[in-house]
Amino acid sequence: MKGAAVFPGDKTLRVVADVPDRKLESPTGVKLRMLQVGICATDREIASCMFGTPPDGFNYLVLGHEGFAEVVEAGPEAGELQPGDLVVPTVRRPCEDPACMACVNDRPDFCVTGLYREHGIMGMHGFLREFVLGEARYMRKVPAAIRDVAVLVEPLTIAEKAFLQAERIQMRLPWNERGVLQGSQAVVLGAGPVGLLGAMALRLRGCAVTVYSRERKPDPRADITRAIGAKYVSAQDRTPEEMAAGIGNIDLIYEATGSSKLAFRMLNVLGRNGVLILTGVPGAHGPEAVDLGALITNMTLKNQCLLATVNAGNDAFDRAIADLGEFCTLWPDAVRGLITGRFTLEQFETPIRNAAGIKNIIEVAS
Ligand SMILES: [Zn+2]
Ligand SMILES: [Zn+2]
Repeated sequence: MKGAAVFPGDKTLRVVADVPDRKLESPTGVKLRMLQVGICATDREIASCMFGTPPDGFNYLVLGHEGFAEVVEAGPEAGELQPGDLVVPTVRRPCEDPACMACVNDRPDFCVTGLYREHGIMGMHGFLREFVLGEARYMRKVPAAIRDVAVLVEPLTIAEKAFLQAERIQMRLPWNERGVLQGSQAVVLGAGPVGLLGAMALRLRGCAVTVYSRERKPDPRADITRAIGAKYVSAQDRTPEEMAAGIGNIDLIYEATGSSKLAFRMLNVLGRNGVLILTGVPGAHGPEAVDLGALITNMTLKNQCLLATVNAGNDAFDRAIADLGEFCTLWPDAVRGLITGRFTLEQFETPIRNAAGIKNIIEVAS
């Protein structure tokens, strides 16, 4: 079968015509026909060989971790999944260490050994191929009503996992035993897909949301922000301090830019009892001067929390699927407007080399 791959040896991208296609043998397994796969910065970084590991015995790695598929075959013990069902596969698979409580409890997103595998990233082929075999328990069922945007589930899970944790963290406030975020002042950094989907999830939870991003109005990102009832501020017009001055006590900041400088600067504007959530992976850029004493003093005197989060578990996937349904009801044009580019499998190199628009997807099955 066909698959879109990176060859780390000679740093090339190619469509491979003969990716091995196995038969469904596991009674608890399913065979998926991939429908759509989203492209993001992670794919771009793997394509430029900053990281990414092919499976054992391969000199290439099939890309793609943001999948949306149709079940075409289900083993006799695959539970409720039937051929014709729509699913989003989760990305990470557990390590084999029986002492890893995270993986033993089917939460490899918190794996402690670091020996997990990830589709399209580490040790397993990704979803940019015609068919994928997997265990039914890693497939999250998607209602047909969100078929046209289900490819956005995986990028939304980043926000959902973050906010599930933020809710638990804010249970520390004695008057908020359920950790509700409703009524919070939230700032989202970055108006890419991860930022805008996070802004939608925060609006759904009853937060007042300000999206702070580079692009100046008029811009489709600003239009989507306005459509969901959030405020858009361009970093070209306002410094973080100026932006924050118009808000009041900022309870939650969701960072989706991968800018280490901006993330730390935001600690200065985060409010009392606030949580700053980091989701970006800026990599090493060398030392930066920071007044650590002032930073820690400020954080301590304001009861602040710094939370970093990666990957997502089944709970975040299921919440993402449910929330996308709500988004489609509340803001149908805004959520559909996130998908700005569609390409065939043969054209996969274009959106990887050139990150134009908001979200680019590959139509694997056409
Ligand atoms: Zn991604
Ligand atoms: Zn583990």
